[in-house]
Amino acid sequence: MHQLTLAEIARGLADKKFSSEELTKTLLARIAQLDPQLNSFISLTEDLALQQAKAADARRANGESGALLGAPIAHKDLFCTQGIRTSCGSKMLDNFKAPYDATVVAKLAAAGAVTLGKTNMDEFAMGSANESSYYGAVKNPWNLEHVPGGSSGGSAAAVAARLLPAATATDTGGSIRQPAAFTNLTGLKPTYGRVSRWGMIAYASSLDQGGPLARTAEDCAILLQGMAGFDPQDSTSIDEPVPDYSAGLNGSLQGLRIGVPKEYFSAGLDPRIAELIHNSVKELEKLGAVVKEISLPNMQHAIPAYYVIAPAEASSNLSRFDGVRFGYRCEDPKNLEDLYKRSRGEGFGAEVQRRIMVGAYALSAGYYDAYYLKAQKIRRLVKNDFMAAFNEVDIILGPTTPNPAWKLGAKSSDPVAAYLEDVYTITANLAGLPGLSMPAGFVDGLPVGVQLLAPYFQEGRLLNVAHQYQLNTDWHTRTPQGF
Ligand code: GLN
Repeated sequence: MHQLTLAEIARGLADKKFSSEELTKTLLARIAQLDPQLNSFISLTEDLALQQAKAADARRANGESGALLGAPIAHKDLFCTQGIRTSCGSKMLDNFKAPYDATVVAKLAAAGAVTLGKTNMDEFAMGSANESSYYGAVKNPWNLEHVPGGSSGGSAAAVAARLLPAATATDTGGSIRQPAAFTNLTGLKPTYGRVSRWGMIAYASSLDQGGPLARTAEDCAILLQGMAGFDPQDSTSIDEPVPDYSAGLNGSLQGLRIGVPKEYFSAGLDPRIAELIHNSVKELEKLGAVVKEISLPNMQHAIPAYYVIAPAEASSNLSRFDGVRFGYRCEDPKNLEDLYKRSRGEGFGAEVQRRIMVGAYALSAGYYDAYYLKAQKIRRLVKNDFMAAFNEVDIILGPTTPNPAWKLGAKSSDPVAAYLEDVYTITANLAGLPGLSMPAGFVDGLPVGVQLLAPYFQEGRLLNVAHQYQLNTDWHTRTPQGF
């Protein structure tokens, strides 16, 4: 049963082949057996899961239907879950039980999804390897000596290892797409404003966006349908109708204009990945797409701009964790200043402290113009490049990452080396565009992802292209050995 996709589960439940309770018990037992190798969960919510599964079975017995009714999922541990620990991968929030559900959590629960637990992640979503979690590193099911990517590494490892069919995740600079690429999954970062950020603990508010991680585009369509939509509680949520994503999967790709940026194929890209990307282009050409070389001239400035803007916003967002109102508080503070300093010094890990310092520096009076303002100007140039490109093409295609998953510990002493791995993903966040990563082959037994980007609110187009590609390739069906 653990091999079933969300779409297959929905059919099995509708045909009464199994109940949500049976499925939930099977997956919980599988998690207990296999997750010790992976460390993909921070908390399991067995009681809640069984209660939700029984309720979903009862709703089906009463004639209700729905693709998510009785479907087991998990939430990245930065979506607030009422009465349940919501740690953000940090010692700072190890004791924090959220007083309310995030909009995404509430919407999926209302649709009948069953929450198996909360998944591991880089502390406050800062990282690309899931090694900065207070709860320990997550292992990649394709090779337990390698990282699963980050920051949504727990969601990715759990879905890739068939512990569950799909999970929620968030993407500030690539944290859905990069772990999807590293673990052979399909992951979608929606347009900024498509999915509510209410109750999603903030890292960099102008970049953060929640989205689905699953094995297929078909399943991403199902999960996104349950997550997307206007939310008056989030002032940056956009009031646009949500299309029927599943209904759009079967559109023809005849005449689809694919842009391949020449800047993507620079020296930093593993040539074996470049070859797999070219193969995926050929596959889409067979389906009727036409390919065109394009240029994104400001791409080279995106990493420095992102690594000013994201820490700047983080330094502001994380000021609320002061030992007074939320989470960790140091022992025996001597005075208020000591309480702040030691609570934050002891509660935050090294990478989070580094980013807070970089961000506070970039925002300080003397350096604001030189760093923060400059970075915002670059951000606009990056967006303008995309707007020009989308006048000529319907989607942009390239690698998701320059290299496959690296070995655990390989980049932990060199944060900049890890930052450089985000080169292909962060531009979509700077511009607010939707992006998807899907499996495109293997290098040294490790999965490789191809990234598709589309104009604002064209998530449906990304899912359509990915689904057609997956009907004609079988990379996404490969299973890691031992799982
Ligand atoms: N790797 C990027 C960072 O560390 C992106 C993380 C994310 O998308 N949450 O900021």
